[in-house]
Amino acid sequence: PPQSAEETRIFVSKLPAIPISNDIPLHTYCFQNSSEYPDRPCLLVGACDGKSYTFAETHLICRKVAAGLSGLGIKKGDVVMSLLQNCAEFVFTFMAASMIGAVTTTANPFCTSGEIYKQFKASQSKMIVTHSAYVDKLRDTGDESIVFGKDFAVVTIDSPIEDFLYFSDLMAADEANLPDVEIDPNDAVALPFSSGTTGLPKGVILTHRSLISSVAQQVDGENPNLYLKADDIVLCVLPLFHIFSLNSVLLCSLRAGTAILLMQKFEIRALLGLIQRHRVSVAAVVPPIVLALAKNPMVDEFDLSSIRMVHSGAAPLGKELEAALLSRLPQAVLGQGYGMTEAGPVLSMCPSFAKLPLPTKSGSCGNVVRNAELKVINPDTGCSLPRNQPGEICIRGPQIMKGYLNDPEATARTIDVDGWLHTGDIGYVDDDDDVFIVDRLKELIKFKGFQVPPAELEALLISHTQISDAAVVSQIDEAAGEVPVAFVVPSIGSELTEESVKEFISKQVVFYKRLHKVYFVHSIPKSASGKILRKNLRAKLAQASSL
Ligand code: AMP
Repeated sequence: PPQSAEETRIFVSKLPAIPISNDIPLHTYCFQNSSEYPDRPCLLVGACDGKSYTFAETHLICRKVAAGLSGLGIKKGDVVMSLLQNCAEFVFTFMAASMIGAVTTTANPFCTSGEIYKQFKASQSKMIVTHSAYVDKLRDTGDESIVFGKDFAVVTIDSPIEDFLYFSDLMAADEANLPDVEIDPNDAVALPFSSGTTGLPKGVILTHRSLISSVAQQVDGENPNLYLKADDIVLCVLPLFHIFSLNSVLLCSLRAGTAILLMQKFEIRALLGLIQRHRVSVAAVVPPIVLALAKNPMVDEFDLSSIRMVHSGAAPLGKELEAALLSRLPQAVLGQGYGMTEAGPVLSMCPSFAKLPLPTKSGSCGNVVRNAELKVINPDTGCSLPRNQPGEICIRGPQIMKGYLNDPEATARTIDVDGWLHTGDIGYVDDDDDVFIVDRLKELIKFKGFQVPPAELEALLISHTQISDAAVVSQIDEAAGEVPVAFVVPSIGSELTEESVKEFISKQVVFYKRLHKVYFVHSIPKSASGKILRKNLRAKLAQASSL
């Protein structure tokens, strides 16, 4: 029998709950205090000739771009696709869309034309804001309306291209033309894509209320979880199209009034140079960047003494790596956070850094965030488990997604009738309320923190005329965390080779979804209901690697 509410073991933060002003729009919340420090740097563009924008300038440009978007016909509820690496225009586009009640779907510009087009269609975007370097990918989709902007517009942020609109025109718009739009806190504002616990990537509806709640859980109140000070310089090297960077770096810094150093992409020497030059104090990173900071000999050539806090998330960070980083940056505090796009994304993070130095427990992802509830369940029975017993982590609170776009079934599979979001992650809560993630129940593979949905690769493999069945699972990898490998059943008489299968996939997917190994097998193990028995395949892999 299901447990009653009283029997359910619920974990909450050790910090007291806080009032959250989540009945206002996201942009109002983020810029709420900025008039108190108009001249403080807000955005620093980390290129050689990088510009910088104060809070007053950033806020004004966002309002102008909002007026510009509105002038182009973007209305409340419309979706704008941001196909950008980290840059100031990403910030302007996202906040401007919020101001007119529009929604930004954040896409990865490194994705292939086909992958971008799928997100474009699924999100029903009305406009794409991109860099001229990615325009060819849009042309390659073969959809003429995209390139020639008949039904909607493509805005490029740099060099002029025939038939395109320019970001500078949006920035030149008159803020007086910014329409007065009524925004409901439950309206969508962001639409990142995630495969969740199963299947293909889906649009994750994050509302004004959910994102404000998540940011507040991190930086608001007397004793915040993520302690950002006015004179901090926060490194933004993780891609803003992923919710970790968008929320915990951009939105949290805007709200807290700290400067954000935007870096287009991770390259170790450039990163170290920027940290030294700008005296970066807070670095949000993923485990592969921790690995580089901990192990790369180049680190010794630079002065990284300004770093006081390193915040790692998006994938598990091992104890050994934590220790290696701290021996290199002895002045810093290292905290892990645990997130999932659908959860807004932060579920737990290392507790307040307000009282430094604070011992953080090695390997732990901290405590559940404030104003939220976490439980650990037995995935077979659904019953909640006591401390120290691993099970599926579930989270409930105002920060979680509203649901998946146009997919009520997937939404119902993920958020149950009592409002609990089931993460598909296996973890436990120890005697000190610290959360530990130990395994993953769901199919998802994470390559350097990037999502690799096996279902997507399996669908591509099966579309090959010489493949009759296929399954994709993860294999542990020191540099990437995990890599995807495939088990393939060739059709009778096929002349497939491992290389030809790898190439078939790599032509169609972004670099982190490429197959690292292909095994040819006679059949794919499946349950009576036809589900791929991934555990069996992973066990096979473990056996093969121990030989
Ligand atoms: P995403 O939606 O791309 O952020 O991916 C979410 C998934 O990444 C989670 O459900 C976990 O499986 C994994 N993940 C995120 N943070 C951590 C962490 N600190 N430790 C272990 N796994 C993590």
